[in-house]
Amino acid sequence: MTNTADVLIIGGGCHGASLAFHLAQKGVRATVLERKTIGSGATGRSSGLVRMHYDLEPESRLAWESFRYFNNWREMVGGDCGFERTGFIQIVSEKYVEHLKNNVKMHQEIGIPSFLVTAADVKRLAPYLVVDDFEVAAYEPESGHADGYATTNMFLTQACEKGAKLVQDCEVTAINVVGGRVSGVNTTQGVFSAPVVVNAAGPWAAPIAKMVGLDVPADTWRHDTMFIKRPAVIGPSHPVVIDDVNEMYFRPETGGLTLVGLEDGNPIGDDPDGFTDKAQAGFVERAVERIIKRIPVMLQGAVHSHHGGYDGLTPDQRAIIGQAGPEGFYLQCGMSGTGFKISPAVGACMAELIVDGEAKTVDIAPFRFSRFEEGDLLKGEHSYESIWG
Ligand SMILES: Cc1cc2nc3c(=O)[nH]c(=O)nc-3n(C[C@H](O)[C@H](O)[C@H](O)COP(=O)(O)OP(=O)(O)OC[C@H]3O[C@@H](n4cnc5c(N)ncnc54)[C@H](O)[C@@H]3O)c2cc1C
Repeated sequence: MTNTADVLIIGGGCHGASLAFHLAQKGVRATVLERKTIGSGATGRSSGLVRMHYDLEPESRLAWESFRYFNNWREMVGGDCGFERTGFIQIVSEKYVEHLKNNVKMHQEIGIPSFLVTAADVKRLAPYLVVDDFEVAAYEPESGHADGYATTNMFLTQACEKGAKLVQDCEVTAINVVGGRVSGVNTTQGVFSAPVVVNAAGPWAAPIAKMVGLDVPADTWRHDTMFIKRPAVIGPSHPVVIDDVNEMYFRPETGGLTLVGLEDGNPIGDDPDGFTDKAQAGFVERAVERIIKRIPVMLQGAVHSHHGGYDGLTPDQRAIIGQAGPEGFYLQCGMSGTGFKISPAVGACMAELIVDGEAKTVDIAPFRFSRFEEGDLLKGEHSYESIWG
């Protein structure tokens, strides 16, 4: 059997899947090589927050373009991505109030439905929240959360219907370069050939890049989440909240559950093949303590389950998107804990870059690999200095 394609994509997470979908829309045959099963990396563990609130304009633009997909999934992709519109609230401590106001202004200039609201407004939106430790918040009524597996599955299902191929249980072990240009890869299922190879390997992206001699400054970031059975008094759903004061975020999950994640205690540099069936020791106790601070009635809830996951983390905590290393080699990695919500637009931009030579949907130049050696790291003008979902 000859395994030839126009483009080989290493990694069957939401990013590899989105790229395969957008290439297929352009009539380009991609083969996705996944060492386990689709969504088995960061994507399957993702908290799935879909919001546009970033402190960096290019990221907000990617999230806003991606939102069109989540909000119109059936028409734009097909099937269901599990998007639930719950509204999103960003709470910040007093020292970041001016940053919040400036960021909301930036979002509004892009066209994102984002508003400054008072603590009293937040109380009206979610009466069970404690609101006495902040004055203003940002509110995005259209935002919510989606499902990592469903998103990936639907991108790939549609891509395969248009000619893409998915090969699971297929680990890439080497990347072949001839005369300064990639020619394909070696895998546990044989050789695959293509003039273009894309590294969409999530927290495993650095060793993959090393196969072509490229040092990608992407570390690993571990992140645990807990699910709590919420008391009925909270109701059938609640908004997604990033709570900077308590260094925590939470969102509703099906089955009357609430997912909680923490900003602190996320180890950097661990082996991404580490144990993730359960959260690290002590995480649940800390998460319970935090959620009760913001929602005291959660004391009547019950811990349902918990687990961990890994993502790739770059020095400026922003993605790496674009060509790097030998001709035909591309990076779509280093998503730094926030890559799910931007995956539709990033896949569209990458397909444009590979096929047309330039991304038109959103300007992805700020995310170029060379920014690290140029010392041009990305930083929000009004940063909150944290990594969030
Ligand atoms: C716990 C957690 C919560 C998160 N919450 C959010 C959130 O709320 N909102 C948000 O926007 N983002 C969130 N993120 C981040 C987001 O989930 C990731 O940025 C995104 O899923 C990355 O997708 P990916 O396709 O780049 O990588 P992955 O999903 O990790 O996919 C990479 C794939 O590559 C495969 N692979 C690795 N090596 C090889 C090889 N040698 N050969 C073949 N295949 C290989 C892996 O098996 C894997 O399936 C979260 C991340 C974690 C871990």
